[in-house]
Amino acid sequence: MNKVNLMNLDQKQMEEFLLNIGEQPYRGRQICQWVLQKGVKNFSDMTNLSKQLRQKLAGLAELGGVEILAKQESREGNTVKYLFGYPDGQAVESVLMLHSYGSTACVSTQVGCRMGCRFCASTLGGMVRDLSSGEIYDQVLAIQKDTGKRVSHIVLMGSGEPLDNYDNSIKFIKNITAPYGLNISARHITLSTCGIVPGIKKLARENFPITLAVSLHAPNNKLRDHLMPVNKKYPLEELIPACREYADFTGRRITFEYSLIRDVNDREKYAEQLGNLLKGLLCHVNLIPVNPVKERDFHRSSWKNILRFKKLLEKYGINSTIRKEMGSDIDAACGQLRRKVILNSK
Ligand code: SAH
Repeated sequence: MNKVNLMNLDQKQMEEFLLNIGEQPYRGRQICQWVLQKGVKNFSDMTNLSKQLRQKLAGLAELGGVEILAKQESREGNTVKYLFGYPDGQAVESVLMLHSYGSTACVSTQVGCRMGCRFCASTLGGMVRDLSSGEIYDQVLAIQKDTGKRVSHIVLMGSGEPLDNYDNSIKFIKNITAPYGLNISARHITLSTCGIVPGIKKLARENFPITLAVSLHAPNNKLRDHLMPVNKKYPLEELIPACREYADFTGRRITFEYSLIRDVNDREKYAEQLGNLLKGLLCHVNLIPVNPVKERDFHRSSWKNILRFKKLLEKYGINSTIRKEMGSDIDAACGQLRRKVILNSK
């Protein structure tokens, strides 16, 4: 019989699990604290349980966990990139960014990615597998353990498409914001999607006060089809109304991500098209100088063009910020470290 990974359960399921093995449900609540709050990885550390129960649990269940396979710190010391390995030999990246207001963990939701965005390193080797909610959670626990600091903010912006792994991503958010979990404020969580329309509609109804970020990168279908194949399935005439619906339904401002690629999507006409596309939508645009990926022939826009783009958006009443770059010296673009470590060792 396969052991149950307790990291994947919420409190209610933990109570049910205990009931099913002939124990009291309140034990489930105690175990939840050990597992999701304190992050213990040995049943023997669960000191408020009898030795008998700890042994019984060790026979039936496991506690997940990741191993640090590689770690790189940026020169300024404010960004740390991790390559985490799972027991089945798969690995994903996570990034920790230290800010004056706290620290943000950028977590991966899948090993690889099936979305095929042209500028992204995570998708180069295709999709390998989904991560379970507990496997995503373990990235945060491991970062906290390694740094000794509390993670206050989370972005689901590592490798993978969270809305292509919907149930596990949602369960991760539920558990990490729960009082029985790390109790991280949902307002400090951002989920980023390449634009899976049914997922956006479903997410609106979850009633989470999280921020939705949508990776747009192009203001018309022709260019977006080219940069992001997902646009062929969910074109802008479906994506933008879904975003409007999300903003109306939740009352929350959407962030649009727009990575500026020299001579590809940074021309004046594209800023104007973007201005028209987003007019009247409760939103904010995050302009990101593209991170060049070795396997791709994309270059970052000039500073002059980035500022021109921002100014043009302002004419349409659209606020934007230029993302502060952190960690470009440590392969911080999605999927770069995994490729470097894993492929070089093959
Ligand atoms: N699948 C999700 C989340 C993962 S990617 C999504 O597409 O949103 C997180 C963000 O990084 C996305 O906006 C993605 O488009 C962007 N990104 C990927 N590769 C990049 C690169 N080389 N330079 C700049 N941004 C990149």
